[in-house]
Amino acid sequence: MELRSAEAILLDVVDLHDYDRIVTFLTREWGKKRGVAKGARRKHSRFGGQLQPLARVSVEWMEKDNRDLVRISSVELQRSARHLQEDLEGLLLSAYLADHIQEFVQENEASDLFFRLLDSTVQALIEGVDRGLATRYFEAWVLRLAGVFPAPEICPQCERALVASGAALLASGESLVCRDCAGKQGRAQAVSAQAVEFLSRIDRVKLVDLDRNRPAGSTLDEVERICTLVRRSFLQHELKSYSVIRETMSGLPSNPAPPSENN
Ligand SMILES: [Zn+2]
Repeated sequence: MELRSAEAILLDVVDLHDYDRIVTFLTREWGKKRGVAKGARRKHSRFGGQLQPLARVSVEWMEKDNRDLVRISSVELQRSARHLQEDLEGLLLSAYLADHIQEFVQENEASDLFFRLLDSTVQALIEGVDRGLATRYFEAWVLRLAGVFPAPEICPQCERALVASGAALLASGESLVCRDCAGKQGRAQAVSAQAVEFLSRIDRVKLVDLDRNRPAGSTLDEVERICTLVRRSFLQHELKSYSVIRETMSGLPSNPAPPSENN
């Protein structure tokens, strides 16, 4: 048995039996962890109101070899995300951010960059950064950190610069290429220069600074469609929370429009 402690961001909290809860959390040092908070459903539990999704906490747990579930001994709240979850959109958005981390981060694998991304995105949202912008920034960065979707600086096929000329997303959702290369490969979705610029700017500009000089709504919509296709192509399924958001917030079907023919 080993006692460990770390700063963590809570991803998910579900009931277990009558009195306990299972908590999934993200740490820098050990990636994703899942543990039992004994008695957390009891009225006067020592976990009190600390187990809130996306809260940043310091957590202590006992770990046994060969056990998936650790035993959480204490949780101390550092930063609540409750303010973000006061309305339905904020609740759904919180679940969506956590869902990405659940899918893309491994258990017991150092995950400092994912921790910093989630932490800074939640902080920016609490401070009032535009939610749509923050979500697009987060989606694109998750794909970047996962090694799935590199910064679109040059066409990977002919090495021509992409930003000035716009680009195209292959129908497979695998990569952004220049329009000439896309034209040789049949179906591809045209991507505007503005969307390409946004995807490359996230490397150099912080979210709060992007918010001061926010891209047009149509560019953010385009970035959402691109990230959705790339993510789905990689995962081979859609994030459940994304379908819920699409259905709840817009009444739209959860499948974005199929790629149009490139021209
Ligand atoms: Zn090319």
